Amino acid sequence: MSIINESMTSKEMLNILVAKNMEDARKAKERGDLVCWSSSIAPCEFCEAMGIYTVYPENHVVGIAARKGAPELLEYAERKGYSNDICGYARANLAYMDVQKCVSEELPLPDLVLLCNNICETLLKWYENIAYELNIPLLIVDVPYNHDKEITEENIQYVEAQFHDIIHQLEVICNKPFDEKKFQEVMKVSAQNAKDWYDATMLCSARPSPLSGFDMFNYMALIVCMRGKKECGMTFRKLKEELEEKISRGECGLKNAEEKYRIMWDGIACWPYLSHTYKVLKKHGINMTGSTYPSAWALEYTPGNLFEMAKAYTGMGNNLSLEGQINLRKSIIEETQCDGVIMHMNRSCKMCDFLQYEVGKELNDSLNIPITTFDGDQADPRNYSKAQYETRMEALVEMMSENIPSRNSSGN
Ligand code: SF4
Repeated sequence: MSIINESMTSKEMLNILVAKNMEDARKAKERGDLVCWSSSIAPCEFCEAMGIYTVYPENHVVGIAARKGAPELLEYAERKGYSNDICGYARANLAYMDVQKCVSEELPLPDLVLLCNNICETLLKWYENIAYELNIPLLIVDVPYNHDKEITEENIQYVEAQFHDIIHQLEVICNKPFDEKKFQEVMKVSAQNAKDWYDATMLCSARPSPLSGFDMFNYMALIVCMRGKKECGMTFRKLKEELEEKISRGECGLKNAEEKYRIMWDGIACWPYLSHTYKVLKKHGINMTGSTYPSAWALEYTPGNLFEMAKAYTGMGNNLSLEGQINLRKSIIEETQCDGVIMHMNRSCKMCDFLQYEVGKELNDSLNIPITTFDGDQADPRNYSKAQYETRMEALVEMMSENIPSRNSSGN
């Protein structure tokens, strides 16, 4: 029987499911069942089919950083020799692995790790270290970077072949045959959940948008951690219903504020200062309607078709060429009708930062859209300045207010 039901709000469902997911993993560990640590956009379908409890270190550090508990872990990692230039998720997680204490939910240690380098290469070294230090199996889905506009057939075949290898490795680790029947079911559920996530979050195209991107950040925990479970889709369908009702009432996603400007947020949230970053935008009537997150988990494939599944995991946003990344953002800006762009120059994530200058220049030139940047970090509060953020947002408002009439008359 499901622990959520239709009479609940999507927020109630979200809170119950997030807590349960972690609790289930802890209980599994106590029983002696296998627990896997996985990167956020790795194919969850295989472990789910084998009944392995999977938890997500990136999401775990988000909870720690948002509760302002990251500094102790980051400093511990630095004392251990990890440079503070390394991604904060990696540093905090590698420290947690040693101390096993934090201000958020406690994550059971893994019996195996699964990573897919479709979001960045830092993951490869990070997960290698986990596997080496804990002496546990490391499963890798190595996804080649897409240098061209199209994803090549060779790249997809290379990834698909690794799926077969993952199945074989899981059979050895679990000492039982791969559960093909469950796998087929999980693929259906995951593909449907990905669609439900995209359909709900893209309702921010409405004007005013019924959803603030900051609320979307909260729902993201489910698509990261429970993509293979039915309750995940149930929550997104409920969210969609609630948002459609808000659209019919003309309500906007900013709490008690009017939506005057709409922006695309480029990059990861600044978790230690989530409230400050949100409140400053709200004060100016800025709603975050555009983000790369809705499409990041819109992994579309026909259940049962491993080639299509390999293509979906290979073609996700972070793994696209520069041109692909620019085109992705152009379509988000157009679909969600953004007036400006905020780029989080995230000290932790080189993968995001290295592209932003070129992406921003092209967006500004081709769409005539104002862009501002701010320095921050997804986990490390030392890299953020409230004053700088506030000043940059004031400048963005000035640019947007001057720009909106000319954009409207030019049809942009
Ligand atoms: S935050 Fe950036 S560097 Fe860290 S794991 Fe994610 S994509 Fe990689």
